[in-house]
Amino acid sequence: MQKVLNETKLMIGGSWVEAKSNRTFPTYNPATEEQIGTIACANKEDVDEAVKAARKAFETGPWPSLAPKEKARLLYKLSDLMEEHLEELAILECSNNGRAYHEIANLQIPGAIETLRYYAGWATKVYGETAPSTSDYFNCTLREAVGVCAGIIPWNTPLVLAIWKLAPALACGNTVILKPAEQTSLSTLRLGELIQEAGFPQGVVNIVTGPDDVGKAISSHPDIDKIAFTGSTEVGREILKSSASNFKHVSLELGGKSPNIFFSDTNIEEAVKGALTIFYGQGQVCFAGTRIFVQEDWYAEFAELMAEEAQKLVIGPPMQKQTQVGPLISKEHYDRVIRYIQLGRKEADLKSGGDEKVFEKGYYVKPTIFTHVRNNMRIAQEEIFGPVACLIPFKDENDALQQANQSNYGLAAGIWTKDISRAFRMAKKIKTGTVWVNCYGQLNQTMPFGGYKESGIGRELGKDALDLYTQVKSLIVKI
Ligand code: NAP
Ligand code: MG
Repeated sequence: MQKVLNETKLMIGGSWVEAKSNRTFPTYNPATEEQIGTIACANKEDVDEAVKAARKAFETGPWPSLAPKEKARLLYKLSDLMEEHLEELAILECSNNGRAYHEIANLQIPGAIETLRYYAGWATKVYGETAPSTSDYFNCTLREAVGVCAGIIPWNTPLVLAIWKLAPALACGNTVILKPAEQTSLSTLRLGELIQEAGFPQGVVNIVTGPDDVGKAISSHPDIDKIAFTGSTEVGREILKSSASNFKHVSLELGGKSPNIFFSDTNIEEAVKGALTIFYGQGQVCFAGTRIFVQEDWYAEFAELMAEEAQKLVIGPPMQKQTQVGPLISKEHYDRVIRYIQLGRKEADLKSGGDEKVFEKGYYVKPTIFTHVRNNMRIAQEEIFGPVACLIPFKDENDALQQANQSNYGLAAGIWTKDISRAFRMAKKIKTGTVWVNCYGQLNQTMPFGGYKESGIGRELGKDALDLYTQVKSLIVKI
């Protein structure tokens, strides 16, 4: 039996405060189904307080007058503190989210730390331009912070996505309100303590926890200037609507049903390894390559080898060193994924995995592969967000392109081929925000990430994210 953490608080205006309602909600370990914490449940009034604190810090606190190099110093300090506490953060995230510990400790948190450092570097390099003008005018642009920015975070990679929002927002001089998903508040709350320890002025970062009502109060709040959201397309649409009240700046990183396309001119072992990335994070990854397009002439061989390799993946407790596949996030999500597997059994052929219970406790689902899937089936069009791969045959380049683009989503794509001209030709025609060639899922803080079509609006990471957190003012001076 794991120790239940003491009741948590909200971080507002530099202090840890109780939720006004005094209500709480439990948080669980999805591997054991045990409660591991009690989280403060914020309401609309708490959101109001957080907005007031963030507004005050933005307009009159020491933050707006702090030199960019000092803002950078604070971001570097936070990155160092995260590094110092990496193991503790990874254990919290792992026990609340269920992803394999080694993925969190060796890839995700180090990536988040690099992202903080990348944007710390930008804090001193964001400014406007001087425009050409006649001799009696001086024309220039100022690049200014947007104001109070809210980051609404999902449960699949809580710390990484909190940093994707926090780092560029702070580097550009904004103040921030973070709302973690109700399933995974723990690591964001610990991040809040490290933010305080780093010495950020009061109210520059605020954290409110609670169910989706808190998210709704944020997206309709008249004094929030920008929302950065990662999560489902359905909620993204709602946020866009409620943000219209005061024309908030909105960036959305939403769902996907990404094509990963394999031509038979490439090495089969490497190709199958690339296809197996669908099971990373139990498939609870927005850019997971779930629609696996395999060229007809090696379809049977490919499916055989992929099923063989998928069966070797180690399912188990996420803290265990050899674990590759942990549990899904919750009972509700487990039931949803199982329903999709049952639907898949009707629509296509089950090649490996399936819907049987894996262990007595924990929301584990076997890596599952369906063959003879057609691109118009529901399992090939709807986001399952679990370890479920659809193997779809294709004839040639045109057929692959046409099927790959037949989706409401457009987050990412993979192309595996030795023919470099074909790779470039296809990369230009695929309607997704990211294209990987002969690799899949590599993210880098220098490379913008976001979606075409219903996968989102705006680009996080890279230089492009600075546009999300700044606005341009034109200054025209008669000399
Ligand atoms: P979700 O409902 O989109 O939730 C994501 C975040 O938005 C959470 O912090 C959530 O708060 C908040 N939220 C929910 N409703 C809101 C509203 N009306 N206004 C403002 N904020 C709101 O995602 P989910 O329920 O966790 O998962 C549902 C499905 O979304 C998954 O099965 C998957 O298909 C997809 N998903 C995609 C991603 C991605 O990275 N693209 C990530 C997660 C989920 P609460 O947690 O308090 O409800
Ligand atoms: Mg929810």
